Amino acid sequence: MDIFSRFFRFSLLIVAAILIPVTIAVAETKPPIEVSSVRLGIHKDKTRFVMELSEKPEFDLFLLPDPYRIVIDMPELRWQTDDSASRKKGIVENFRFGLFRENTSRVVLDVDGPVKILRTVVLPPTSGKPHRFFIDIQKTDHTSFMQAVKERRQKNAATQKVALKTPIPPVRAKTYKVVIDAGHGGIDPGAIGRSGVYEKTLTLQVAKKLYRILDKKKGYQPIMTRDRDIFLSLRERVNVARKEGADLFISVHADSISRPDFRGATVYTLSETASDDEAAEIAKSENRSDLIAGVDIESQDDTVQGILVDLAQRETMNFSVRFAEMLIPQMTKSGLKTSGRSHRFAGFRVLKAPDVPSVLVELGYLSNRQDEKILKSKDGQTRLAAAIAKAVEQYFKTVDP
Ligand SMILES: [Zn+2]
Repeated sequence: MDIFSRFFRFSLLIVAAILIPVTIAVAETKPPIEVSSVRLGIHKDKTRFVMELSEKPEFDLFLLPDPYRIVIDMPELRWQTDDSASRKKGIVENFRFGLFRENTSRVVLDVDGPVKILRTVVLPPTSGKPHRFFIDIQKTDHTSFMQAVKERRQKNAATQKVALKTPIPPVRAKTYKVVIDAGHGGIDPGAIGRSGVYEKTLTLQVAKKLYRILDKKKGYQPIMTRDRDIFLSLRERVNVARKEGADLFISVHADSISRPDFRGATVYTLSETASDDEAAEIAKSENRSDLIAGVDIESQDDTVQGILVDLAQRETMNFSVRFAEMLIPQMTKSGLKTSGRSHRFAGFRVLKAPDVPSVLVELGYLSNRQDEKILKSKDGQTRLAAAIAKAVEQYFKTVDP
């Protein structure tokens, strides 16, 4: 080794020694900003939305159409608010907030028509009040609203450089990759039970149980789309399955339906036409998830969304149906109730991976009292997870003997 390369190596070491501690310091995440109050106020010809925060927040604000919405993104926030304040005032019909993705919290305001943002202000703390962020909203016409939406999209298109990763072709090895998708999360609570329990909480609990069962079995690699209370768009969920080259995708839900007597586990698969009214209703409410969370579907990459049900997908759909048909008897065997016609189909966006057999399991319905009780109980959750795990094993034994 000559002197020069020795010196070079030595300098690299020094550089590394200097850089590494710095990198660690940067990687440390700040504690979330606390939100002590979120409220609406009516002022002369404007509606004001106010948040009280422990720190001055960075924020990003944009508008979305169909239906009209205002979306505010901030760093991760901790919500210490009491929920008693009215969420409907002036031109605001409702608002919701929650974790949108790692390090980003989101607020979505539903407005009753086209609006414009008059101003956004962050006030420093004064006389015992913390930082206050507020926006003033006023009615406008549809054309001006759409102009604001368009400008935002153009700006986004110009800065977006992240391309979709090419999906890795499925590797047929001894290990089966099963993607477990806990429905909803973060800003999207999903259905809400009579007891106030959120669908997003129950789906995550059952998903985690299923993960643990499969993880212990030889030859299975379970993958969770989310393992905490965070939002994922439908496309992101589909993409996890595709990127991993999954062999099976199971989306777990516990929705509400307009018929309170409708109950029991149901397995849904993808189809262009719905099998019945209930399936159509569930698909419609599932597909609303992105809308609730303020995802701009228009500006998303369309590789998955635009895929029509082609031949490849049809083949995948056959596998989905096979799995669905194995899961129902497993549920019954475990003493769980299944709904009258327990395999149904409809146009679920979350099931649209063209190359991964995908099913959506309604563990039960939060609109039904008995189902809610089972879904909330440890025993019920364990039995549901175990039944799914058994069906998974049975499925791979038949498709890949
Ligand atoms: Zn759901």
